[in-house]
Amino acid sequence: MKAVVFTLGCKVNECESNSLIRGLVERGYDVSDKLEYADLYIVNTCAVTKEAEKKSRQTVSRIKKFNENAKIIFTGCATQCSPKKFIEKCPDGLVTGTFNKGAILDMLDKSGVVIEKDQTEFEELAPVKSLRTRTFVKVQDGCNNFCSYCIIPYLRGRNRSRNPENVINEIKGINPLEAVITGINLSAYDFDGQGLKGLIKGLKDVDCRIRLGSLEVNVIDDEFLSTLKELKNFARHFHLSLQSGSDNVLKKMNRRYTAKEFLDKVNLIRKYFPDAGITTDIIVGFPTETEQDFIDTLNLVDEVKFSDIHPFIFSPREGTVAYKMPDLEYSVKKRRLDVLMEKKKECRERFIKENVGTTQEMLIEESINGYLEGYSGSYIRLYMKDQNINGIKRVKLISPFKDGVLCEII
Ligand code: SF4
Repeated sequence: MKAVVFTLGCKVNECESNSLIRGLVERGYDVSDKLEYADLYIVNTCAVTKEAEKKSRQTVSRIKKFNENAKIIFTGCATQCSPKKFIEKCPDGLVTGTFNKGAILDMLDKSGVVIEKDQTEFEELAPVKSLRTRTFVKVQDGCNNFCSYCIIPYLRGRNRSRNPENVINEIKGINPLEAVITGINLSAYDFDGQGLKGLIKGLKDVDCRIRLGSLEVNVIDDEFLSTLKELKNFARHFHLSLQSGSDNVLKKMNRRYTAKEFLDKVNLIRKYFPDAGITTDIIVGFPTETEQDFIDTLNLVDEVKFSDIHPFIFSPREGTVAYKMPDLEYSVKKRRLDVLMEKKKECRERFIKENVGTTQEMLIEESINGYLEGYSGSYIRLYMKDQNINGIKRVKLISPFKDGVLCEII
């Protein structure tokens, strides 16, 4: 029997999907993570924006084109948010939410809506069976922060963290080339009083490259950065959520730092890791964002010199505090997005230019059209003329190429 586990949204969803893949393989399924013909589909949905939710629902018609009679199971944030919309689109399907995802594997022949309301303990899913050389390892779920624009705390429940022993065993069991430590709010990791620093200390005997998922600035301090320095093979890449460079907007967003504090933390990172890639997410067009607020964001982007930014247009999510605030005109939001997309281009080009001529470690992930492709620790996309090699190789960065840098082995 053929099964597809199709994933929308974040890396946490990807981890959970990988566990489901493992469970299906153990049950004898031939499993793919791409939308193609299958007998069974599990769609792991996303609700971070209205658009993401819509895309999640649109998978029904895409699947029906491959197999009109396939069994479809929906799970994830969008189904937790609006299960009815999914069951209406697919009355023979099964709709589950964000909690107790492992139970899906025991409900493959069931239909209807099974949505649980909460989960207080971290759910241990089947160890990941990754289809790639880089594997995402989920260590935390839920969030207590309630940023005013974000629906995730309502859909994924409160902060809960994974036993570090299980994290280490999972990484050693998979033995990937790179493990990406991931959570909904990774900075809130706390197992029996051991914060993220404690978890990282436990990873110092792990052989693979360790990359951290998205972080909040509150977790960055000298001790945290010294702990990272002690890792054998730390990918020098920090994804620090900024969201806005205006103190007024940050306050309305219920983010708990100022632009100055953010900049100070970036400078602290550069003290320990001068060559680190520093990326971020920024929301444009938050309801109270004035032209000056937006300029403050642009100025902070210039000051920080990010290696890349991921700009998003504010998307009002029902049930959040920001949903009740007056939304800005779409044309204003779109113009700000376009300006920030230009800044993104500048950031990427500058970082690439700074890194040409350096030597870095490339994790070779795939071979496409005559080139090996992969990432440096600092998260630069690297390309190398195809040859019979794999793994992590020391390379010299030669010249800008496509969306990254052409390199050669040394
Ligand atoms: S930290 Fe804020 S943005 Fe991130 S999941 Fe929690 S509430 Fe959402």
